[in-house]
Amino acid sequence: MDRRRFLLVLAAGLAGASVARGASELGDPDATPPRVLAPAATGAPYPAVARPPTGVVDALPGTGNSLALTIDDGTSSEVVAAFAALAVETGIRLTFFPNGRYRSWADNAAVLRPLVESGQVAMGNHTWSHPDLTGLGDREVAEEIGRNRDFLHSTFGVTDSPFFRPPFGARDERTDRIAADEGHPTIAMWNGTLGDARVLGPDELLASAREWFVARSIVVGHANHPPVTTVYGELLDLIAERELRTVTLADVWATPGQRLRGATAGGRVAR
Ligand SMILES: [Zn+2]
Repeated sequence: MDRRRFLLVLAAGLAGASVARGASELGDPDATPPRVLAPAATGAPYPAVARPPTGVVDALPGTGNSLALTIDDGTSSEVVAAFAALAVETGIRLTFFPNGRYRSWADNAAVLRPLVESGQVAMGNHTWSHPDLTGLGDREVAEEIGRNRDFLHSTFGVTDSPFFRPPFGARDERTDRIAADEGHPTIAMWNGTLGDARVLGPDELLASAREWFVARSIVVGHANHPPVTTVYGELLDLIAERELRTVTLADVWATPGQRLRGATAGGRVAR
């Protein structure tokens, strides 16, 4: 299938999107002009939003130049503030995986909340306090996830995010199942990293970015250490040079509730 035809099929929702479209709406792909499929580097949604899968995702689907930057933890309020300002100033699309135990998120909620409402920023669950879940009992795992889910709702208005990222990437079938039971069927791993779980210098951060900022990567970074905030300009240059287009995970995979954002505050977190 050529690229145009493939994208038309994607746009028609036949590649897993849960918004059904009739065949008559698709029409003859060769006679129908393509939908808008090559939006600018930032600020436009994925061509077609697919149903969030159950289980692990560690790369973006499709054939485009999408790049998902995912930012975890938030031990530093200053670094979270810098990422939020970057999003406001540049339109870059980001997915955050906060731990609610860090006050950085409440500190910056006033800036982040409108970005969440507009869809420019998506949120996933990374547990309340960042434990290794594989060493906890079932009830403790559920409490870590459920407490953070409620925090994401009360702080940012997030409802029914399908995404869960286990701290340290430590997971097994049991933790995946409990995450799904708590409302997060999609285990969002990654295939690229800034390597910044420890403190890196600017040169090391940029070397990681040059290695991993490639099409269809899910790159993990952290809002923990200040050096990353000193290389935003270089990171944006790299994204532009490589003609990458930033997307949130919810641009790619979203629940019907997210697609109808604002229509109904439904979902598990609303109880
Ligand atoms: Zn983490």
